[in-house]
Amino acid sequence: MAVLGFVSEQGAAMGNDLHDQADAVVVGGGLAGLVAACELADRGRSVLVLDQEGAQNLGGQAFWSLGGLFMVDTPEQRRMKIRDSRGLALADWMGSAQFDGPQDEWPRRVAEAYVAFAAGPMRDWLHGIGMRWFPVVGWAERGGALATGHGNSVPRFHVTWGTGPGVLAPFVRMARAHEAAGRLRFAFRHRVTALDIAAGRISGVSGEVLEPTDVARGQRSGRGVVGAFRIEAGAVVVTSGGIGGNLARVRAAWPEARLGPAPDRMVCGVPAHVDGDMMDVAAFAGAARINTDRMWHYTEGLRNWDPIWPDHGIRILPGPSSLWFDALGKRLEAPYLPGFDTLGTLRRILSTGHAHSWFVLSQSIIKKEFALSGSEQNPDLTAGRWGAVLKARLGAGGKAPTPVEAFKQHGADFTVAATIEDLVAGMNRIGAAMGDPVLDPASLRAQIEARDGQILNPFAKDTQVTAIRGARAYRGDRLIRTAKPHRILDPAHGPLIGVRLSVLTRKTLGGLHTDLDGAVLDAEGYRIDGLFAAGECAGFGGGGYHGYNALEGTFLGGCLFSGRNAGRAAAG
Ligand SMILES: Cc1cc2nc3c(=O)[nH]c(=O)nc-3n(C[C@H](O)[C@H](O)[C@H](O)COP(=O)(O)OP(=O)(O)OC[C@H]3O[C@@H](n4cnc5c(N)ncnc54)[C@H](O)[C@@H]3O)c2cc1C
Repeated sequence: MAVLGFVSEQGAAMGNDLHDQADAVVVGGGLAGLVAACELADRGRSVLVLDQEGAQNLGGQAFWSLGGLFMVDTPEQRRMKIRDSRGLALADWMGSAQFDGPQDEWPRRVAEAYVAFAAGPMRDWLHGIGMRWFPVVGWAERGGALATGHGNSVPRFHVTWGTGPGVLAPFVRMARAHEAAGRLRFAFRHRVTALDIAAGRISGVSGEVLEPTDVARGQRSGRGVVGAFRIEAGAVVVTSGGIGGNLARVRAAWPEARLGPAPDRMVCGVPAHVDGDMMDVAAFAGAARINTDRMWHYTEGLRNWDPIWPDHGIRILPGPSSLWFDALGKRLEAPYLPGFDTLGTLRRILSTGHAHSWFVLSQSIIKKEFALSGSEQNPDLTAGRWGAVLKARLGAGGKAPTPVEAFKQHGADFTVAATIEDLVAGMNRIGAAMGDPVLDPASLRAQIEARDGQILNPFAKDTQVTAIRGARAYRGDRLIRTAKPHRILDPAHGPLIGVRLSVLTRKTLGGLHTDLDGAVLDAEGYRIDGLFAAGECAGFGGGGYHGYNALEGTFLGGCLFSGRNAGRAAAG
């Protein structure tokens, strides 16, 4: 099919009604969309990538991400003496996913295929297009319950040099090369509002041309409409992301029976364009949505003191040593330890009737163990500067990395004090502004002293103390992620730090029901001719390949895998 017209930002500004044609339309210029578009263009198809945001937003959420990828049995793991295998990774995945419904057939098959990919060609493919990884493989989501349950048995979180922008870079480069060769075009500020149907198949898309925008990347842009468009296409690939930027949608889909009531207050871990509207558009055209109540939200959210998008929250990636207290001041029991079981901890926190919780830690812990998720919070890794990484991560000068220290200084959720009594007074001052229950300093002191007594005991029964020792058995954790065990109340490791944590929305685990090719299925499970989906809007493949729980690094990984499959299949 030849390309007839040309959609441009100038056209949009002039308010023309635009008609155009391409072999394939990709709805969404995030990571999944870019991967799919490159696969299509590699196969000689003419591709039009539409995005509701401006050109400055190319890459979507992946730009903001930490760039962590779930890969299995890699040279990076072997160098760190981590023995991993496809079998172990699959067992971990299934223990976490806990697939339990007939609709989980395709999600389960996509999960199996992804694990095979992650243990097979994934790294060579990405290495071949220029990606490299930080040598210390991270150990996210450790589970902490039974061997058959949720969690990563071994470290598998491969942080890409350059973080999220480093993951995007090869695909942006390849897409731009296809653009220069005339095979691929971008049309920004084009918001798809309908999938067109002709002769029983998807025949293209239509929508609104939005007013031009010059907001910075990630900021909320205007929704003024200046025109309309219609594109005919042989195939449409939907890669429009999840729902995490729309708190009303998150609340409406919240699995109250499983997690407890939806928090009345949350911070937002994704930009406003992660609005979920396009999934309604696909559903209107007959696409089935499954597992809509499965989501992946974090419990360690901070209110960003320097926000980019509305309600902007930042997630702490904690090491294992911070003491975690619920809203009533009771220490969380195992397995609800920092970095172990995200949704289990969320359920535990919400069971108090409150959505917030508290970390109490020492300066020695914050400097070694606190990392913040996001490319802009890790300028050293994002810039790929070795010297800066080592200096920041080894805690030069007794300080935490600069972005963490900035939160400590400016963040509304932090308080610092020399004694536990003063610290709890500071925590209660933060809580008073939020209507929180008042914390009792004597109770916190007693719980911390009891834990501190165990840290000096080589035969401790406190599970968090044994978890810290377990973490330090891994060279990577010992080097940069786990503070030397010490008494929290030891002034030599002070000052004390209290941090109020909010629920932070992030990932959508369910989505458009697809098969392994990314072909979108209808309510009866039949393929909808001409319609494909990939990335977060497809639950990262199949309509929810994580099942109920994620092992981390599987979101970007899932965009790469499902985008590649959908792009190839849509090329015919
Ligand atoms: C701070 C942060 C850290 C993260 N860290 C990691 C990590 O380390 N590892 C990991 O695996 N994952 C991580 N993630 C998650 C991961 O980045 C996302 O899940 C992933 O990038 C989603 O990509 P996507 O292409 O599916 O969707 P998106 O990136 O959301 O892109 C969708 C695009 O579609 C456009 N769009 C939506 N609707 C329409 C419409 N109707 N018409 C036209 N365009 C539309 C949007 O404007 C957007 O540009 C992180 C996310 C964040 C925010």
